[in-house]
Amino acid sequence: MSRTLLRNSLTIAIFLAISWAVLSIEENDYDENNPELAGYLEGDIVPDSLTRNGYPDRKWPNNTIKYVFSWSFTEAQKETVRKCCRELENRTCVHCRETIFLDYGYVYLTNEEGGCFSQVGFQPYPFAQIMNLGPNCLKNHVIVCHEFMHALGLSHAHNSYDRDDHVRINFENIKEGNEYNFEKKEDSLDCLVPYDRESSMGYGPYVGSKNGNETITPLDGNYTGMGQRKRIADSDIEKINRIYCYNNCTATTNTTTTTTTTTSATTTITEETTTTEETTTTIMW
Ligand SMILES: [Zn+2]
Repeated sequence: MSRTLLRNSLTIAIFLAISWAVLSIEENDYDENNPELAGYLEGDIVPDSLTRNGYPDRKWPNNTIKYVFSWSFTEAQKETVRKCCRELENRTCVHCRETIFLDYGYVYLTNEEGGCFSQVGFQPYPFAQIMNLGPNCLKNHVIVCHEFMHALGLSHAHNSYDRDDHVRINFENIKEGNEYNFEKKEDSLDCLVPYDRESSMGYGPYVGSKNGNETITPLDGNYTGMGQRKRIADSDIEKINRIYCYNNCTATTNTTTTTTTTTSATTTITEETTTTEETTTTIMW
């Protein structure tokens, strides 16, 4: 097969895969007020191409997450994404690099209506993975980084192995069909970073409520920072660094209350920070 033919075939394959993913956006139940509840696994997590659960080794090669903008981003929106990348690079050893469509293994960024969503960790098939950043997701770079941290491998804070020590999940208040967003991940990889109420990967207390009552209640009565999207929490950054920089992320399993740890470099990610003064309001999801 000639190089040109191979390149054209790859282009068509990527285009078809991306088109399918974008078209499927409309089929999901999207809550405009909660753009991360895009109707996917855990709201904004798109099931990956290999398995729905667990996080096998999904680190990005060379600690580098690559991305390509679709044609519809404005320059201002692109700058919001780049701001996220700068903060991740400043606070972790992860590199964030814009690339070209014909590259292999990157995040294809779309900004269709339908909320924000991403796959978790590096997805080597088929050529590229999807991340949608709808208009509401581009209000500030922390929301963008929330999705980038999913792509780097992080899950939601309220799914963590030790969340029951800190919050109560009120399943009786959760909208039917959304319960799975609140399941604890017994096999999640939290790198032994403790639950953080102010994680930028967490939800606010009313997300997914069917009756206006809390879905997540902090056991100590302190709601400060729950669901905040104004800054990337240190705990999120710590997870990313343990996975990508220190290579000492620990897989955590929780069956009763004892947490068993099995070491080794695994996947999971998290974020960064810096000083960012956002003018937008805190988004509670
Ligand atoms: Zn999320």
